[in-house]
Amino acid sequence: MNETLPARIHEMFPRYVAALENLIRIPSISFDNFDQNEVHRSAQAVKNLFEEHGFQNAQLLLPPSGRPSVFAEIKTNPHKPTILLYAHHDVQPTMREELWQSAPFAPEVRDGRLYGRGAADDKSGIILHLAAVTQALSIAGNQMPNIKVLIEGEEECGSSGFGELLNKNRELLKCDAVIIADLSNFAEGTPSITTTLRGMSAVSVIVKAMKTPLHSGSWSGPIPDPVQALCKMIASLTDEKGNILIEHFSDGIIPPTEEELKSYEALGYTEETFRKEAALLNKTEILGGKKEILTTLWRKPSIVVTAFEAGSRTQAGNVLQNAAYARIGIRLAPGMAAVPCTELLCNHLKKECPAGLEISLFPEDGANPFTTDISHPYFAKMKEAMTRAYGNEAKFIGCGASIPGAQLFRDNFGEIPILMTGLEDPKCNAHSENESLGLADFERGIIAEALFLEELSK
Ligand SMILES: [Zn+2]
Repeated sequence: MNETLPARIHEMFPRYVAALENLIRIPSISFDNFDQNEVHRSAQAVKNLFEEHGFQNAQLLLPPSGRPSVFAEIKTNPHKPTILLYAHHDVQPTMREELWQSAPFAPEVRDGRLYGRGAADDKSGIILHLAAVTQALSIAGNQMPNIKVLIEGEEECGSSGFGELLNKNRELLKCDAVIIADLSNFAEGTPSITTTLRGMSAVSVIVKAMKTPLHSGSWSGPIPDPVQALCKMIASLTDEKGNILIEHFSDGIIPPTEEELKSYEALGYTEETFRKEAALLNKTEILGGKKEILTTLWRKPSIVVTAFEAGSRTQAGNVLQNAAYARIGIRLAPGMAAVPCTELLCNHLKKECPAGLEISLFPEDGANPFTTDISHPYFAKMKEAMTRAYGNEAKFIGCGASIPGAQLFRDNFGEIPILMTGLEDPKCNAHSENESLGLADFERGIIAEALFLEELSK
């Protein structure tokens, strides 16, 4: 057998793809209206997989929701650091199944990509950890760092019990660094470490004028229209450039440093690429500056109406609606905080609601933004390992999305390095139809993490 890590991983790669396919076959959708037995089945399959590969102490950890996370470990040497490897085994719903070119839970390889729900987000992360540890261990033996694996079962539906799970199992999960393999590479073939995440929250709002809808001819005029009222309230949230108009909302923002701005610029991301990746229509204008797209995505807050309901499109008639509903989602830049921002949004909506209309507000639990300091030597080592594995310089990037777990790890384990990697890419369609994983990067990603672990063994 060839002794170098990349060669060994290349030889074993078809087996890792097969293991990933087996996990994809389990529809582990963690949302309440889906069969939660599948999430249990998936947890059990993950636990078995780690046991079969020689991991010790494998067990299911149950948060209050009952969707199990999986723990397993490899103890090598008490003098070595302990690295905790995170991924999640639950998945998003399939969306419109008729749009999938192959069934979402029947994995299929086409043109070098593996298609299936969870292929990229985030069952690939599970196999990535499994393969990297197994291979690095076979070379470095008890010089390897100690390894703990934690595979969450409810990331997609909001990680509501994950903080409690970390807290309750603090001794079991204690570690010196975390690798979260649930993020994106900047482009296919361009390895990336994510250093900032936006936070998020959402508020549902209902504006009501009367108990039931009324004939719009017989009744409109004297009665305020709740639909227009809600539209005006929503319109007051931002100006035409997308700047948020809620007072004090953006006060806490920590702007990117000169160095960070330079690193964003060095990525060479163009308006053209963005338009293509987002499938924008030709005339759609870009808010926040065409040259600052990445800064707008990663370092500025945004507000999006994620749902709006007033009457029904299929039943539209001449009716004065009695109520209008919207769910307003906010994304928060580093420095902002979910609880006060959600409260400011609620207060703004109350203030803008026309007198005499009834307003009800339902704020959700949010997640705070996250930033990490890359001065710890692990970041340079990971960058070096990725650059070697991909044959392409690794990049430090930001991310517009949120992972509640990142901050929860910090809350529980203090200022340890948290390295955010992953195998999504701009083509992967995570959360949408035809999700896929680039197989070449899957192999390189495994090699990168194995090289990193091997480096820590020296
Ligand atoms: Zn994910």
